[in-house]
Amino acid sequence: MKRRIYYFDNNATTRVAPEVVAAMSPFLTEFWGNPSSSYFFGHQLARHLEEARASVAALINADPREIVFTSCGTESNNSAIQSALTAHPKKRHILTTAVEHASNFKFCEHLATQGYAVTFLPVDSEGALDLRLLEKSIRADTALVSVMWANNETGVIFPIEEIAAICRNKDVLCHTDPVQAPGKLKMDVKKLGVDFLSLSAHKLHAPKGVGALYVKRRVKYQPYVMGGGQERGRRGGTENVAGIVAFGRAAELAMANLRDEPKRIRALRDRLENGILRLIPGSSRNGAKEPRLPNTTNIAFEGLEAEGILLLLDQAGICASSGSACTTGSLDPSHVLTAMSCSAARARGSIRLSLGMYNTDAEVAYLLKQLPGIIERLRGNEIGG
Ligand code: PLP
Repeated sequence: MKRRIYYFDNNATTRVAPEVVAAMSPFLTEFWGNPSSSYFFGHQLARHLEEARASVAALINADPREIVFTSCGTESNNSAIQSALTAHPKKRHILTTAVEHASNFKFCEHLATQGYAVTFLPVDSEGALDLRLLEKSIRADTALVSVMWANNETGVIFPIEEIAAICRNKDVLCHTDPVQAPGKLKMDVKKLGVDFLSLSAHKLHAPKGVGALYVKRRVKYQPYVMGGGQERGRRGGTENVAGIVAFGRAAELAMANLRDEPKRIRALRDRLENGILRLIPGSSRNGAKEPRLPNTTNIAFEGLEAEGILLLLDQAGICASSGSACTTGSLDPSHVLTAMSCSAARARGSIRLSLGMYNTDAEVAYLLKQLPGIIERLRGNEIGG
């Protein structure tokens, strides 16, 4: 029997919207050609790719020519960093933060083993950056400043517009990773002033396996994945047509939802967060209350391990996580919480709940009903042995 699930892990991935399934389906069943083919059955698809490109561009107020489709947010992040280094070979320093997603920091750690210099800027206990330190850390050989917009574990938002302005003053390229932002924050690359920006379709109700990199016009771009001349020579590989069409449709939905949905999600998240903090002794939030994504909360439960909480939540049909899905299973405490000076014990006892457009009041009520008992049970077990 199919078990009812209560999905509170929308920062890991999101349910594909029925509208998106409807838009992409014909490209799996009927129009499955290769857009680079010379005959009509194939090359007719190019138009659909361009329509999707226009929709994704509109989501961030970019020009469609500034959008390069990739396979995921990870590839977009890797590509931006790689391009900045290889297009400016004399510049061998990357300035990033200690709380980036693994797709940034693991790649930067790898680059550090290859002779590049990498600075991981610290954050304070609320998860905030010191912009004066950021400015001071830019060096003559800095190829790129790469800072995420919204943290996937805590939801904490960095002031990207100010960071991009600092970079412009210092004549350094600026990349941001707002993979968690679409449909939650208004995104405008012209206002932000960044040179590169990463997106991932599966965070906005499209399928996995498709992403995009915004590359500002006139910024030198060195392709990361090379092969055929797809994406105007900027990303080799036969296009994931159905995925890209889905991404375009999801971008339209995210834009349409932007007016009311963030307010609704914020109210739900706040009800959930306030309820947990009120009902469960020894619970406290990780990270600043604001500015923060409207859908994310990260909560520490004193004296407990997240693993046990997540197991019992799972038994109640509730999906949540202890941090990034990409690092789940790792025994190390979250690098994000550790960078915020959380003790290892606190970090290990923290869970992330991230809401999405399909969460309802009733689901929040269900979670609020289940969680106090789960925590009590675990604490009772701990004391009673
Ligand atoms: N950046 C952030 C902030 C993310 O949360 C994620 C995924 O969790 C990624 C990048 C990577 O995206 P993808 O799963 O498409 O590779």
